[in-house]
Amino acid sequence: MRDVHGDIYVTLYDNDPRLTLLRHLLLAYRVDWREFGRDIFTDEELDAARLLLVTIPDECMVFGGPRLGTQFDLTNACRACATGARQTSALMLDSTDPEDVAKLETCRVVTCYQEIVVDEQLAAALVGAGVTGLSFRSVYAVRESNRQVELPRRQMWAEHALPPMSPHSIGINPRDVCASCRRGGFYFSQLSPRLAYRAQDLTGAMDVNRTWEWYGYVKFNGDLSEAVLPGPAFLVTPKVWRIFRDEGVTGFDWLPIHVVDE
Ligand SMILES: [Zn+2]
Repeated sequence: MRDVHGDIYVTLYDNDPRLTLLRHLLLAYRVDWREFGRDIFTDEELDAARLLLVTIPDECMVFGGPRLGTQFDLTNACRACATGARQTSALMLDSTDPEDVAKLETCRVVTCYQEIVVDEQLAAALVGAGVTGLSFRSVYAVRESNRQVELPRRQMWAEHALPPMSPHSIGINPRDVCASCRRGGFYFSQLSPRLAYRAQDLTGAMDVNRTWEWYGYVKFNGDLSEAVLPGPAFLVTPKVWRIFRDEGVTGFDWLPIHVVDE
């Protein structure tokens, strides 16, 4: 596959003999390349996990958040990075860009930064299965002239945040962590990060939880109308993965966490 920059992407399993051949050819022709490893898990491995990190696919990401008018309470938020900002209104999504409109019309699940927005059928399946720790918020499309129209969709909402992850976690980039709160500004530095948690920190975990750490690019100077806010990641039990799978929702990567003694 060739992207808009002219870069060429090749995807191969790591046991494919063509991978070795390709590396030899790249070396021989002095071509610069980078490799990204992505772990693929069997259903049995996912089912056996204590919790799964839900990674957000780019393909179904829709613009939205504070710049579209979503309201937040900043009382307990970090003044430097806004981590801890509490959403107090429905989630506002863009409905003027044709690409965003197409995603809202065709994707069963769309994402907005760290937030997950499901259609009503999937929301009903989650409720019907008695998933714990989950509630929902309304979602609005913001159209021309700031006209707001409620969508037949629900934002997944989870109140329960786990304690900080274990330092044994792999694939996290702490370089941009907020110097003020040490909680915002985390990034995943590989496609398949493996979060580790101490066993005792998982006591009280629900089916749907959020991370203590807040992830993603931050742009914040106190003015929400121009802000890009970080957000906590979702950690769910295999029960939630099975419901997504049985509903035919694809595109998400579900990554087992690693449970450690300390
Ligand atoms: Zn901060």
